[in-house]
Amino acid sequence: MEFENLYQDIILDHYKHPRNFGEGQPQCTAVELDNPTCGDHIKLMLEVNENGVVKDVKFSGSGCAISVASASMMTEEIIGKSVSEAKAIVKDVLETMRGEKEPNELNEHGDISALKGVIKYPARVKCATLSWHAVQKALNESEKKQNADGK
Ligand code: ZN
Repeated sequence: MEFENLYQDIILDHYKHPRNFGEGQPQCTAVELDNPTCGDHIKLMLEVNENGVVKDVKFSGSGCAISVASASMMTEEIIGKSVSEAKAIVKDVLETMRGEKEPNELNEHGDISALKGVIKYPARVKCATLSWHAVQKALNESEKKQNADGK
């Protein structure tokens, strides 16, 4: 019970003070996704530098506490990682949220472990994974762009 409260505090903190909320640079890879079952909407802007490192992630849009908090946590986790590291983290989180992996595997990802409490509620899982699907799409698109540039 105490743990659940702790997780709730982390989620509320990210919801009330979302990190990296706003618009990215115009050259960013932008992805927009909706979660119609809840009404969550996210616009995600990903900036990858010439070394293949995620330089910046910004998100905007509106949604429930879980979707906003999850997006906020996602940006903190992804910024500074290489594209391949970022993709591995996204895959880990999505598999865990779908129940394919032990929830405890989220522990190594800091605040994201607060999302464990959501796994029990399938309707909320869609809220929690929206931003992760968005960043996954953006990472794939930015990789394609870099390959097309011959880098
Ligand atoms: Zn939602």
